[in-house]
Amino acid sequence: MKALVKSKPQEGIWMVKDAPAPEVGVHDVMIRVVKSAICGTDVHIYNWDAWSQKTIPVPMIVGHEYVGRVERVGDEVEAFKPGDRVSGEGHVTCGFCRNCRAGRRHLCRHSVGVGVQRPGSFAEYVVIPAVNVYRIPDDIPDDVAAIFDPFGNAAHTALSFDLVGEDVLVTGAGPIGCMAAAIARHVGARHVVVTDVNDYRLGLAAKLGASRTVNVAREDLRGVMKDLGMKEGFDVGLEMSGNGRAFRQLIDVMNHGGRVALLGIMPGEEAIDWSQVVFKGLVLKGIYGREMFETWYKMVAMLQSGLDISAAITHRFPIDEFQRGFDVMRSGQSGKVILDWEA
Ligand code: NAD
Ligand code: ZN
Repeated sequence: MKALVKSKPQEGIWMVKDAPAPEVGVHDVMIRVVKSAICGTDVHIYNWDAWSQKTIPVPMIVGHEYVGRVERVGDEVEAFKPGDRVSGEGHVTCGFCRNCRAGRRHLCRHSVGVGVQRPGSFAEYVVIPAVNVYRIPDDIPDDVAAIFDPFGNAAHTALSFDLVGEDVLVTGAGPIGCMAAAIARHVGARHVVVTDVNDYRLGLAAKLGASRTVNVAREDLRGVMKDLGMKEGFDVGLEMSGNGRAFRQLIDVMNHGGRVALLGIMPGEEAIDWSQVVFKGLVLKGIYGREMFETWYKMVAMLQSGLDISAAITHRFPIDEFQRGFDVMRSGQSGKVILDWEA
């Protein structure tokens, strides 16, 4: 089958015409990929940075954001049939650790990443366990279904705390920060302020419903808070940049009793002013992946109740033009990029 493979330990990704199709175990589902999206993780793997070098066994079919049709199911699978339109949870969990058994599968200690440690979805076919497959209702378009994975990161983070009537700060207007801003507006936050240092991305955040965007490279966040009549500070902070400076700024402008969810992955250790965490009584919560499958349920329900995240998708290419997709992702001048396997 055709697949995009990290076949060499160096910068780049390569199209292979004769990759072996994955085997279908008795509890597995084989999905024919219709549309893929490029994740920031795929860009890290493309760039072959320090994290990829220690995490990705080469060769590896990468990719984990997609929508497709069920092609074939394992002998024990009853919940799905060929033709069903589905996406899939990219964390394959063990099912037997304490958290898995308690229904907290996103906290599994043994989770394996699709397109990271096992063959992924930049391919004609991807195979995942049936429990990881998620059916997509007919009223949700393919493009949106293809980005359920990062939309789920945004939803898991944004829905960690009550946002109704709250003032929310999102640091980082990448695709996930932009979708988080949209969710915060949808569920009834008051001010949703989004910071970045990239004007293209701040434009995207505004389109998705940020009530105010701030380029912190040249604008003073405290001045903006004053303009908005915010006297005390932000109630909820969503860290979605993976940047230490952004995180320190977020801590600095939180109100006492503020709640902070951290999704962004900092490249190394970052110092913060812990006395602010202590004296303000801040709550910090780390976020990994999506809750299985409450986040998936909420994503569908929010879309069906009027949430629109489609503006987060800015570019679409046929799969054979994948290089253009990676180039635009690497330029920082994009939101989500969709690669179409049927075009
Ligand atoms: P992204 O890299 O596209 O976006 C990050 C944004 O932060 C960029 O637009 C960048 O310009 C901005 N930024 C840089 N410095 C800043 C500063 N000082 N202040 C404000 N913004 C600043 O990433 P994404 O795909 O939207 O993902 C968001 C983050 O979440 C990344 O760090 C990613 O690695 C991480 N992530 C975590 C999980 C998880 O399970 N925890 C899952 C997916 C992604
Ligand atoms: Zn487990």
